[in-house]
Amino acid sequence: MIVEVQPLAGFDRLLTYEVSEKISSQLKVGCLVQIPLGRRRVLGVVFSLDSKETIDPEKLRFLGGLIQPEPVLSLDLIRLSKWICNYYSCSMESVLAAMIPAVVREGKKAKNEKWIQLHPQNKKGDDLKSAPKQQELFYKLKEIGKPIRKTKLINELGFGLNTIKGLITKGLVHEVFEIVQREAYDDELDDDVVESKWELTPEQKEASRQLEDLLQKKKFGVQLLHGVTGSGKTEVYFEAMEVALDQGGGVLFLVPEVSLAPQTVARLRARFSKRNEKVEVWHSHLSGGERLDAWRNLTTGKSRIVVGARSAVFAPIPSLRLIVVDEEHELAYKQEDTPRYHGRDLAVYRAMLNEACCILGSATPSLETFRNVERNKYGLSQLSKRIDGRQLPLMHIVDMRLDARRGKGGSVLSQTLVESMRERFEKKEQTILFLNRRGFNTTMLCTDCGFVEECKDCSIALTFHRTDGYLRCHLCGFRKVAPRVCASCKSIEIRKKGHGTQRIEDLVSELMPRSSRVVRVDADMMTKKNLFRETLRDFRLGKIDVLVGTQMIAKGLDFPNVTLVGVIDADLPLRMEDFRASERAFQLLVQVAGRAGRGDRAGEVYVQTYAPHSSSIQFSRKPDVYGFLEEEMEMRKELEYPPFRHLIRHIFRGRSLEKTEFYSNQWRKKLEAEPVPGLEVKGPALAPIEKIKGYYRFHLFYLTASVSSCLKQLKKRREDFPLDPEIHDILDVDAHQMS
Ligand code: ADP
Ligand code: ZN
Ligand code: ZN
Repeated sequence: MIVEVQPLAGFDRLLTYEVSEKISSQLKVGCLVQIPLGRRRVLGVVFSLDSKETIDPEKLRFLGGLIQPEPVLSLDLIRLSKWICNYYSCSMESVLAAMIPAVVREGKKAKNEKWIQLHPQNKKGDDLKSAPKQQELFYKLKEIGKPIRKTKLINELGFGLNTIKGLITKGLVHEVFEIVQREAYDDELDDDVVESKWELTPEQKEASRQLEDLLQKKKFGVQLLHGVTGSGKTEVYFEAMEVALDQGGGVLFLVPEVSLAPQTVARLRARFSKRNEKVEVWHSHLSGGERLDAWRNLTTGKSRIVVGARSAVFAPIPSLRLIVVDEEHELAYKQEDTPRYHGRDLAVYRAMLNEACCILGSATPSLETFRNVERNKYGLSQLSKRIDGRQLPLMHIVDMRLDARRGKGGSVLSQTLVESMRERFEKKEQTILFLNRRGFNTTMLCTDCGFVEECKDCSIALTFHRTDGYLRCHLCGFRKVAPRVCASCKSIEIRKKGHGTQRIEDLVSELMPRSSRVVRVDADMMTKKNLFRETLRDFRLGKIDVLVGTQMIAKGLDFPNVTLVGVIDADLPLRMEDFRASERAFQLLVQVAGRAGRGDRAGEVYVQTYAPHSSSIQFSRKPDVYGFLEEEMEMRKELEYPPFRHLIRHIFRGRSLEKTEFYSNQWRKKLEAEPVPGLEVKGPALAPIEKIKGYYRFHLFYLTASVSSCLKQLKKRREDFPLDPEIHDILDVDAHQMS
């Protein structure tokens, strides 16, 4: 038998090995094996059981050994890995590293523990008189009355190994193996989530019926579940999950960020524990042992429901029937390290490989997804009303261009917003303030008329560089000297600076009554999981009056006592160097507005803006999602930006600014000399974050209708474009981050 093995380290192509008789009967595709590679022995995964390659039998080497008989990769994951390699143009090694958890990759087995148990038939220990130690142990075990860990007998109760062995040979006790279970998130089970099964609303019923129909077809299908915030999408996912489980299939539930979805995890657990289903939580903070347990539970069929963030798209769920992608529009689904995959797109592809269904849920669908609905590739189910007919909060637009609105808060907090916050505080109601934390570089904004300088070719805001006083386009590299007065109204009030969360927390504390409590949550807090959770708990318990944070607290959280939401700088995304800016701003506003008035009281939202007439602000008022999508789609179509073409970002980085710039320019020249058909090239331009960890960054952007054919051509050009060893380049296919 000759097989093809993909090494897990150090060699990025399939290698061929011969298999000995002994192993060949056990070997399956996806098995983890040991292989000789040069002088080393490394681990690899079997990709095929018959090699097409003809190899000199003299040179053929034998496969070293099988680590475990159960495959570490299912067939669908192997196919998925190949697709990722091609589509995202990355090494198989990096894909497998993302797919197979380190503990599994290293060939570790589940942690077994030996437990000692009395043999049920042997009730008497009388004939043990000649062995007093054994007798003592016998009566001790009887007293305990249940299995006990062997290490505990030895280390804590002081029995010797020989005593235990003695009883085993006499057949009075026996050893059992228990797999140690370490379960993540046990502590997260919120007590207050007691999920009773609701009577579904008519809309929920209709959506559930459509999804059931889709599942019953037992074919690949994708459905967008578009439901306004608070319309009860989760309940509809659960109904579909029940159908998939009834069909005997497994279910994957993806959320943008697990620590922001504790309520979803608790609701999933509560709902499916009734069916005796175990829900595996899959996220990046799992310890090796926890992940190994989850892995084993899935591969052995003990559990078949997984909830997790984007990397859970690789969870080894057997006979996958349904994948739910909640908040499908979220940026967090895009992985920003190699392999730079998009979790939602992989979910759809994996569903296809399994002839399964995929539900994409959102209140503000991405343009990518909506385009697929328009082209009838995806179906659409809608929930247009909030549960119990609750009103969406009233949205007030605060035009920050009018000086009169600004009070002590200067250009940061309007008088109107501050007054409303004080009012809520007196009524013992709570406020959330949102701001956009991004904005490392800044655009030039005229605070008198709201004018922003844009690149005429790319329709994105130009950003100001303090170092040389230029305004630059970060897509195409266009630059011009920053003007001293507003080009539209000639005002000198042009601002070049954003403001951070810290500053706003201080300002709010100053402006609010002394007895109020203002707390800020930011990205740093996310790494301290407990601190973040405690803050949210305090807020829920009413110990905090005003919570200040970025959009990360805009999703999934449900606080009934929040009646006021303020958005400090609603149009900052509009001024970012990103063609998705408008979409971002719109999504944020709709999402944020959904946070107010979730309880019995109606909520209010104050949106501070310098661009009150922009489409993202106007359409989010109602909100009119389809109105926005239509208008934005028109814009994208005109410029042929995604979703009409794919965007690939090509980053060059190096320690020397000159060298990095030189090589990215040379590359552009190469592409001009040997153009790739159907490829539009922009740049090179200095990246918005010019330097990271000492490396300067330049990037080019490619727009193309077909990723695969364009990558093929690009690779060919790249092969005869020798780069300086100090310069590195990376491709980011379907790039979302422009910075
Ligand atoms: P969405 O994800 O669409 O924003 P959720 O699924 O979180 O909304 O539902 C909002 C709230 O409504 C939740 O607290 C949920 O428990 C509740 N809910 C959902 N469906 C029903 C129903 N049919 N009857 C009563 N309450 C419901
Ligand atoms: Zn102006
Ligand atoms: Zn430009």
